[in-house]
Amino acid sequence: MMKKYLKILCIILVIALSVSMNINVYAGTYGELLDELAKAEKELEEHKASVGNVTDQINEDNATIKNLRNEIEAMKEENTRLQQEIADANIEIENKQEQTKEVISYLQMSQGENIYLEYVFGSDTITDMVYRLSIVEQITEYNDNMIKELESLITTNENRKVELANNEKKAEQKIEDLNTELAKLNQTVADLNSLSPSLESEVESQRKLVEYYKSQGCSNRSDVIGVDCAKTAANAMFYRPVKNGYVTSFTGYRWLCLKGECEWKFHKGIDIGSSTRKNTPIYSIGYGIISTIWNDNAGAICVNTQHLASNGQYYTAVYCHLSRRASNLYVGMEVTPDTLLGYMGDTGNVTGVHLHLEVYPCKLWDSSDKNCSNWNSYEKYTKNLFDSGSYKGSESVISFPSRTYQTWYNK
Ligand SMILES: [Zn+2]
Repeated sequence: MMKKYLKILCIILVIALSVSMNINVYAGTYGELLDELAKAEKELEEHKASVGNVTDQINEDNATIKNLRNEIEAMKEENTRLQQEIADANIEIENKQEQTKEVISYLQMSQGENIYLEYVFGSDTITDMVYRLSIVEQITEYNDNMIKELESLITTNENRKVELANNEKKAEQKIEDLNTELAKLNQTVADLNSLSPSLESEVESQRKLVEYYKSQGCSNRSDVIGVDCAKTAANAMFYRPVKNGYVTSFTGYRWLCLKGECEWKFHKGIDIGSSTRKNTPIYSIGYGIISTIWNDNAGAICVNTQHLASNGQYYTAVYCHLSRRASNLYVGMEVTPDTLLGYMGDTGNVTGVHLHLEVYPCKLWDSSDKNCSNWNSYEKYTKNLFDSGSYKGSESVISFPSRTYQTWYNK
């Protein structure tokens, strides 16, 4: 996320820079910028709303699942109760059947000791005996009816149990469906949230850009940035790599002498000296990453940084002849204008202590960038840029004094 944020910062700074550089990356009005911000803010709001909608749906589904689970729990409890009722009814039926059997057998067998016969024959009169017989019959009938009722209860309970099992199955299926939906919704939220930080930092960065231009005098919608206001935006993107220094040689053609052999050659970097010589810290020219840590054939200690502009254009900065590199550097490391890369030196083919700096719009040693995929193509490309007048090396993107040995005291 930090990387993204830096990238966006970098993009903004490139926008700011390119205004003054006349690269035409951004040549809009202040009004257009405000519209851009409003658009991005709206997009962010819509995004937040859609995250909210999905979250609401998730909460709703979770509530439904909870209710269904409660229902299932209640159905299970009812099932247990019915089961108990059936068991009780069965015991009751058995008791009643036993009782009836006893009554009938005593009535039929008329033998041995039994309470019913004693009861029947214990009557004093015929009338009483008939009466007592009818009581015994009533008991038998009562038991039969009771058994029928109990059997009917069992049937009802069994039917209800089947119904409950079906309902339970339906509820379980619904929970399963809801869980599938929830998984999808959670994935959607995860996807949406993964976009959020970048969207938020983008909007935040655009707000900062608007504030920046406002502080640079932009106020009317029709103000053309870089022309009517923010005319000093030049230094905002890439900074000088040395706090205290001066230019000893600008980018361009000059006599280059190596081992006594001199030739009129294109010098694609700018040479920077400093009164603090080898104690001079070298900083990254902007936000980006370390792209290469290398030494040239003559032993020059070098490091490259890579930076991304808003139109998708990458820049590579090459810093050479360092006395030593900062110890913590690694390829891919994020850098800011405050990142120490190393110290000024005189390693490699030099006539004295200085920093040789190249900044070009390409990705050096990256096979995806045909202009600069190797050193030969890079040399051709940079020379063509310079010859065509469209780009003048570091001086096109960093503000340097116009004369050599004119000292600056901050980046
Ligand atoms: Zn040089």
